[in-house]
Amino acid sequence: MNIDKDVDFILLDMDGTLLDLHYDSHFWLEFIPQQYALKENLSLAQAKTHVYALYSHVSGQLSWYCQNYWSKTLGLDISRLQHMTKQKVKCRVDAVIFLEKMKKADKRLFILTNAHPNSVALKMKITGLSHYFEHIISSHDLQVAKEDTCFWQLLEKDFHVDFSRSLFIDDSEKILQVATDSGVQWVRGISTPDSAIPAQTMQGFNTINLFAELF
Ligand SMILES: [Mg+2]
Repeated sequence: MNIDKDVDFILLDMDGTLLDLHYDSHFWLEFIPQQYALKENLSLAQAKTHVYALYSHVSGQLSWYCQNYWSKTLGLDISRLQHMTKQKVKCRVDAVIFLEKMKKADKRLFILTNAHPNSVALKMKITGLSHYFEHIISSHDLQVAKEDTCFWQLLEKDFHVDFSRSLFIDDSEKILQVATDSGVQWVRGISTPDSAIPAQTMQGFNTINLFAELF
């Protein structure tokens, strides 16, 4: 792939691709069980067992990514708790440099995220990234998760994205597979979505650590 010649559309996941997944890992795996333990008067271990089981029921579905679903299911104000921890939201190392470069090259930049619109709004406010993008699309707006081929059909039809001239980058191998099956020409995985966890490998896809590796 030659980005200059082969690519017009750059489709980017948000959490774990543009932003350090460490915020979300910490929030959902540590902070939420802590808050749940306090509310229900449980030990942290008990709260983790209960909360993680609830997560696994809806993994990969739109509910998994939905703040309202978790506010209701756990009896916690997720939006307020995200605001309490927002200082941990950070861009991945060379994300801004990459976006600057692609904007100057007149590429058409999209965010494609499963994150809830409230979470997207909070993260855009903190990072100031929104001005780089022609569209910031949450799967909640389309009512279908990126794991579903319908998401990609809607993207092609409603946003006129030419998949033959598109590069999609995401830290989820499952989502890269669906994008490929839906006709996206170029895809790359992220090997280090969470700065606190060692690099992941992907079986079927090329991965990058830094965006600079795309050139
Ligand atoms: Mg991601």
